Amino acid sequence: MGESRIVSAVATEEDAQFEAGLRPRRLRDFIGQTKLKENLEIAIAAATRRGEALDHILLYGPPGLGKTTLAAIVAEEMGVGFEQTSGPVLQKKLDLTGVLSNIRARQVFFIDEIHRLLPDVEEMLYSALEDFRVDILVGTGPGARTHSLPMPRFTAVGATTRQGLLGAPLRARFGLVLRLNHYEEAEMTQIVKRSARLLDVDVDDDGAEEIARRSRGTPRIANRLLRRVRDYAQVRADGHITRPIAETALDLLEVDRFGLDEIDQKIMLTVLEKYSGGPVGLNTIAASIAEDANTIEEVYEPYLIQLGFLDRTPRGRVGTLRAFEYFGVERRLRGGPQATLW
Ligand code: ADP
Repeated sequence: MGESRIVSAVATEEDAQFEAGLRPRRLRDFIGQTKLKENLEIAIAAATRRGEALDHILLYGPPGLGKTTLAAIVAEEMGVGFEQTSGPVLQKKLDLTGVLSNIRARQVFFIDEIHRLLPDVEEMLYSALEDFRVDILVGTGPGARTHSLPMPRFTAVGATTRQGLLGAPLRARFGLVLRLNHYEEAEMTQIVKRSARLLDVDVDDDGAEEIARRSRGTPRIANRLLRRVRDYAQVRADGHITRPIAETALDLLEVDRFGLDEIDQKIMLTVLEKYSGGPVGLNTIAASIAEDANTIEEVYEPYLIQLGFLDRTPRGRVGTLRAFEYFGVERRLRGGPQATLW
């Protein structure tokens, strides 16, 4: 498949520029994730009423679904400051000490990709979250000593695509653990329309729906496709995005009709072609496409299952009839005339 980058949920620099302006700032403007929002709303209201810092929150789910956005919303709703860093940025204990010693009471400290912290940094964060203390090294050489300084109570919001990679002690420090799911098509359509309004793009209902459907249930991808379709509409038409315009533009970009990316396609073709529709074990799929089994399970499969292309069964993964049809793979029955039809 051609332009695989365009349907990758991982942010590019160009995304970052646009995303700042498209982020909903309040919980009421955040579309979808209804249950998660309700849980957050209750926690925020309770903490505000008590005048306390909110419990630490762990957000997990595939990239581009709104984790960073939600962390910023929590700060906004609590009326407190927002500080942001990420696992890979915090390479040394000293880096974390610096950030922690500047944290103010009740503020939100967002740590993206928290599963990528180095072990000693993770340990230090753990004691900050658990005891609100930070260890500071004073002096150098043999005379150096560690001082454990108290910190104000603050709220850490951790984000990870891979909950399973987080050490159990650290995970246990988060009072609220909330999962983000891929968005339904109707929610995605609302998100496209909202972004179009903010970017002053002229799109009708059908045009928005077409972009939404091809966005892999991921707002980041929807925002990116909207920009590309806008370019097409301005250059090749009168700037107005209808369904035919969206279809032509997205076909030209080789965006799959269901927004599947290269890895989604490899997973499906492995199950359908190589293993005749399954059942096939997760590890077998992982080995056959050289991708990490947990990433397949936590990042890719949820969307394929939501689309109704893949089922999880006790005996392994199974491709559905809908998937056979969409991928144009002919079903070969196994085991003769009594073969099972999935
Ligand atoms: P993540 O941190 O999970 O990778 P982000 O919070 O950076 O995702 O979201 C990516 C982009 O998608 C942001 O620009 C944001 O505007 C948009 N977005 C995410 N969730 C929503 C939503 N529920 N409603 C509207 N826009 C959203």
